[in-house]
Amino acid sequence: MEKILSAAISPLELRSVEQGMPLVKEIAASGGAITERFDKVLKLMGLGLEVHEAIGNQETKTWRQLQERLEELPTPQRGSWQQLAALESTFTTELKDTILHHLAVAKNYEKTLKKKEAARLQQQSMAAVERCRLALLSLVEDDGLKDKTHSGLKACLARMKDLTDAMKKMEELNVAGDAEDRVSGCHKAWNAGRAAVQQFSEKQVRSAKAFIWLRQQNLAHCARLLDTAGILERLHILRTSPQRLEAIGLPYRCRYLLFMAAERENLSDDNFAPKLEEVPEEWEQRTSRHLNLKFFEKQGGQQKRQQMQWEWPLPRGLVAWQGNAEGSTSEAWQKRDEEHALSSQMVNQSNVVVDPFREGSQCLLCHQNAENGHHTSSTHCQQMKQWKIASDRLAMVCLDLDTLSQDEARRPGLASVWRGELWEALRASPAIPTNVLAVFWRRVVLPQLSLQNSKHDSESLLGLQALLKEALKVARILEEDATDKEVSAAITSAERFIDDTKYPGLDKSSIALAAAAIKDLRLATAKILHTRSAVLKNAVAILGQAQAKVKHHSLEPAFHATFHSWLKKHKLETCFKLLDQRGVIVSILKGDPVEANAAVGLPTRFAEKLWKAWCSDGDLRLLRPLCSPPDDWEAVFSRNVGLFYFCKRVVHGPAQWMYPPTLAEDKLPKVQGNLEDLTRGQPHSGSVPYVEIDLNGEPVCLLCKAHGLEHFASAGHARNVNLWSAIQDRLVAADRDLAVQSTSLTSHSTSSQLSELAKVWVGEIQRLTLEQNTGADLEGQVGRTFWHLLFDDWAAKASRPAQVQQELERALRIAGLAEPKWSSLQWKPRIPPQPDVDFPWPLPSILTLSASTPAEVFDHLNAEALKSEGIKVQADGSFWCAFCDKAVKPLANHLDRTSLEAIARLEATAIRLEAKQHLDSRDVAQTVVASLRAEGHELGREGMTISKRRFRCGLCNISGSWTRCLEHRSSRSHQDAYQRFQGSTSSIAAQAKLNNSSFIEVEQTAWKAAFDAMDKW
Ligand SMILES: [Zn+2]
Ligand SMILES: [Zn+2]
Ligand SMILES: [Zn+2]
Ligand SMILES: [Zn+2]
Repeated sequence: MEKILSAAISPLELRSVEQGMPLVKEIAASGGAITERFDKVLKLMGLGLEVHEAIGNQETKTWRQLQERLEELPTPQRGSWQQLAALESTFTTELKDTILHHLAVAKNYEKTLKKKEAARLQQQSMAAVERCRLALLSLVEDDGLKDKTHSGLKACLARMKDLTDAMKKMEELNVAGDAEDRVSGCHKAWNAGRAAVQQFSEKQVRSAKAFIWLRQQNLAHCARLLDTAGILERLHILRTSPQRLEAIGLPYRCRYLLFMAAERENLSDDNFAPKLEEVPEEWEQRTSRHLNLKFFEKQGGQQKRQQMQWEWPLPRGLVAWQGNAEGSTSEAWQKRDEEHALSSQMVNQSNVVVDPFREGSQCLLCHQNAENGHHTSSTHCQQMKQWKIASDRLAMVCLDLDTLSQDEARRPGLASVWRGELWEALRASPAIPTNVLAVFWRRVVLPQLSLQNSKHDSESLLGLQALLKEALKVARILEEDATDKEVSAAITSAERFIDDTKYPGLDKSSIALAAAAIKDLRLATAKILHTRSAVLKNAVAILGQAQAKVKHHSLEPAFHATFHSWLKKHKLETCFKLLDQRGVIVSILKGDPVEANAAVGLPTRFAEKLWKAWCSDGDLRLLRPLCSPPDDWEAVFSRNVGLFYFCKRVVHGPAQWMYPPTLAEDKLPKVQGNLEDLTRGQPHSGSVPYVEIDLNGEPVCLLCKAHGLEHFASAGHARNVNLWSAIQDRLVAADRDLAVQSTSLTSHSTSSQLSELAKVWVGEIQRLTLEQNTGADLEGQVGRTFWHLLFDDWAAKASRPAQVQQELERALRIAGLAEPKWSSLQWKPRIPPQPDVDFPWPLPSILTLSASTPAEVFDHLNAEALKSEGIKVQADGSFWCAFCDKAVKPLANHLDRTSLEAIARLEATAIRLEAKQHLDSRDVAQTVVASLRAEGHELGREGMTISKRRFRCGLCNISGSWTRCLEHRSSRSHQDAYQRFQGSTSSIAAQAKLNNSSFIEVEQTAWKAAFDAMDKW
């Protein structure tokens, strides 16, 4: 009972336990003292009741009744022990149930409490994660850190760490529900943070590399502007997002040059990304434990102090890029260049300039006294001509600046890029003499561009325009303005080219006229640039439109070039001309939908690919015109027109405004290899054309370049025949396609379109014929043979699809014929090879050469003597060794017998080695010829032939030097092939074996006769 009671109260608060335990102990200790025992039990029940109420137990009623019954008992003699015992037993059973219930309730209560607490913690952790996520996101933007400084980096890293910690905590708490979304959101934020950190750490190296690249393109002056536009550190986007260069205030010339250079060098991220192998060796890359990010540590040399940084250290030899409010690396570079070019000229920059080329009484241009009519002197006029050129060039740059759209941004670096551009213009050829340039630059241009001049903001387009016009005013001090009438006339003549009703498009000649009109208008406008007249405004507007139109039309063929290279990539280039004729290229260039029947009549493969590519979001819609002209052309910028023209890279090559035309290959590519190189026979009527019969009645296989009936029973031949039928299958499919597609051709097709279509089909047939879809035909011999035998003579001439179809079907009929009926052929014995022609014939040497033979002797040997050494005098007087199969020069080296022992021991010089090789070759020839004499007649029956110093094995489809024929014959692979041939029950094998057995004696005799005949010589 003590136990039960303890258990009953145990889950409850400490207080109850403290009060209950002594009571229980007292009850146990009180023994027979009945009154006391009653009191104790009563008290205990009171406590129990209290406890039950405290935990909200429903059973309180029973307890209260028990308590009441206990109280009802008379005191002090409250009944007998029996009553007490009965009461106690009721109490106990009642209590047991209660305790169980009690325990359950207590457990539940605890669970609820825990759940509530857990939910609270989860809520808290989710909120923390969200807070960290937002905090991190607030620090980054599209192109990296918002605050691109070290403190910005630090803050970002700290937020990333917070986010990681918060997420770890959330993970530990097992947060369910929308956790997945939340986690992926956090990962996104974390990755954005990591990308920003990476960008920050790579920026230094990337910018430094980009600056070097720009310098190589002569575009260093653009670096600052590109940097502030956020492009410098990722120049490779020039290729993918050219629009990023628009409206940032970059001169058109620079923009175009940048695109060209990017195209030419196939610019990619790889050009600028930092690379581990470039990191100076004292630096090591490490990974941070907390964030799993890379950082760098410098091994500290003598001090053993380690330096740590997130940025990639600059590779050796690279200068850090700097671009800040005080200036940039590119500006410093520009100034150095100017100083260097003008260093010989002592002209001071002056901010107050009345007469730019006069200081005091000195003329700065002529270094003479400027008084007494100096201005009209011939010396001075000479200098003024140069001055005028400089002033015109400045005017052209001012005009370029004027035609920029007014929303081009206000950006640090604008002044720097145009200063560089102006410098480039002034330095262009023909060169202006340095003395004039120095005065012009230091006393006209720089005073306006220097920082002290705060009248206008040189980093805004309007400010820069005003400043340079100011300079122009000073430069043109003695020139007269153009009259409004002159300018208006120029406007009228340029204006008509903008008129789309007069000039809907511009062709090669009209574009030249338009460019000339633009040039005139620019030169006229330059003379009134400093005014603010309405005529000027009008002129600038017309110029802008005319330039845009010329630019558009001159670059139209560039789109053709891109289009063509896309087709080529997909092996569709044969339809280029047809698509051009059907207006597809223009539609795509304009962004218009392509006409529904544009692909009619083309092979299905073409139509499917093209439809997919020219639908609204297809590949062709993403094409951009190429900027760089074809290899043998160059693009040249005309300052006077403000646009590029194209020029062939030959001396005095023609110049044109149109982008050079794409040369679409008009002819089918020539198929390699020529059947004439093969040993040929005569076609056999009614047979598949790759079998021909030679003069001796033996079959020739053009597929395998093999000879003899045994070959036709070989596995190699069977493989090539399979390739032949695979080509047939592909062409049968093409023929079916051609039949279907030609029915959809309407009678409206022009003959030129039909001829283009025929070319497309022939091209497709060629592709299908030569296509190698297995590795079995390594050299493509089967496809080439197919082409030459069946298509070569008509392919180039076909001018209508119907004709192609007719010829294709004829070719397929022939290709499908069977090999000849072998048993019906007229078989003859084999003709043995001709000694001394098909292989060299070793004669007994009639020379007695020894180590002491003087070298001169060799030069006086006669033809017969040489022949006995295997050496033949050729028509041109040179020597050829039949044993070594090579030209010999000089003879002494080849026939040297000096110290044969030394040669044998190979302690030889190069000369002796040659002599040794000759002797070896002669030995080999003698051995092989001896064997051939004995067993050579058997070779033919095993499918082998010897001809022109080579052997061929028709069973193995193999060939090699004649000296190796016996080696091949005894090789394992040949033995196997011969076994298979012997065991074969095919009709070809049977016929071949029949031939062999019937001619065995005749052949042996002929063979022996051929050898014996040689002995008589
Ligand atoms: Zn002068
Ligand atoms: Zn063959
Ligand atoms: Zn030789
Ligand atoms: Zn063989």
